Amino acid sequence: MATYELTVSAPNIEDRSFTKPLLCGPGPCDLWPSVSEALAKPVITPLCDEHYNVIDDIRAGLQYIFQTRNKLVYAVSGSGHSGMETIISNLLGPNEVLLIASRGIWDQRANIIANRYGIKTIIISAPFNTTFSHDTLEVALNKHKPTALFITHGDSSTGTVQNLKGLGEICHRHGAFLLVDTVVSLVGEPFFMDDWGVDAVYTSTQKALSGPAGISPVAFSQFAADKINNRKHEPPFYFDAKLLAQQWNCYGNTRQYHHTLSLPLLWALRQCLREVAKETLPKSWARHAATTAHFHRRIQQMSLQFLVPKPEDRLATVTTIVLPNGYDYVKFYKYIRDKYNILIFAGLGPTVGKALRIGLMGVNSTIEVADAVADAMMGALKVKSLL
Ligand code: PMP
Repeated sequence: MATYELTVSAPNIEDRSFTKPLLCGPGPCDLWPSVSEALAKPVITPLCDEHYNVIDDIRAGLQYIFQTRNKLVYAVSGSGHSGMETIISNLLGPNEVLLIASRGIWDQRANIIANRYGIKTIIISAPFNTTFSHDTLEVALNKHKPTALFITHGDSSTGTVQNLKGLGEICHRHGAFLLVDTVVSLVGEPFFMDDWGVDAVYTSTQKALSGPAGISPVAFSQFAADKINNRKHEPPFYFDAKLLAQQWNCYGNTRQYHHTLSLPLLWALRQCLREVAKETLPKSWARHAATTAHFHRRIQQMSLQFLVPKPEDRLATVTTIVLPNGYDYVKFYKYIRDKYNILIFAGLGPTVGKALRIGLMGVNSTIEVADAVADAMMGALKVKSLL
């Protein structure tokens, strides 16, 4: 054997194991057991029938969960941000205007991404524990005449859910596309891409779909696809929807290699979609609503306050809770992790130091899990050292 002078010697990477906590933060959520199994299915090259079949199954499942008959539907290699970057960079070019309805951290991310592509942004804000009225949005659309409006359906940083029904029609009246983030809401809250006139939407697997992060479903309307197919700017190669439509065979007979998709993640996403199809969307939405209603009753019994004052603005998947004066949010959630092995979270972005964020979604949207979290919170509220 030849001898080599290595600049870096082999590290001692030890086996690491830990007792997995119950994941009840705003994401990631625990995996469906069947999804853990699917991750171990065989890998195969991207250019063969077995791989094509997986992709076709996924596209059918995505049309179901987005409730769309549109063709430009596929999954981006990357976490939720890659979906965000995909829809923004494909639909808007330099100097076009993106109107951002801001009430949490994700619209701020959309602003950062858009600015990097030379897209002009206009931000309208609502208090972070509220949502937008369609009248407010229409006034802004009329005033700024943007190419598109970006809005978050479920906001995991604030625990709010935005009413989107009819918003597409308003956007279209003003010549704008409607771009929507459904990372933490899809499958947990009703969503109807076609009926609500949504032009571009993305989600992610690690929330109510109960899968691993790393692959982000996206869908575009025909209106959006027409713009993409006739656009004057080039989005990043890796996120180019025109090329990925060929890889994902969105329009038929174009199974072209673009990049190597992660087959374990495809198997996992496919299995998440099988779980949703088995349960059906209406039952999934009803389960999330019932679990969260139960959890909210428990919170009220503890005399804790919701961050979001209006019940209709409260998101079914993530609840934001205000602790009584004096409690340290970080100490509180860490205590619950240490004592009960349940992982909830403190605030993020506008809610830092203002709320706890508790996620009951996907496989963890059950009365048992809701009770386990509520019991842990009751226990923590008795601990004086957390004050
Ligand atoms: N949008 C929302 C509503 C989210 O909750 C998250 C992640 N917490 C993201 C976007 C970003 O997703 P990711 O971390 O998977 O990139």
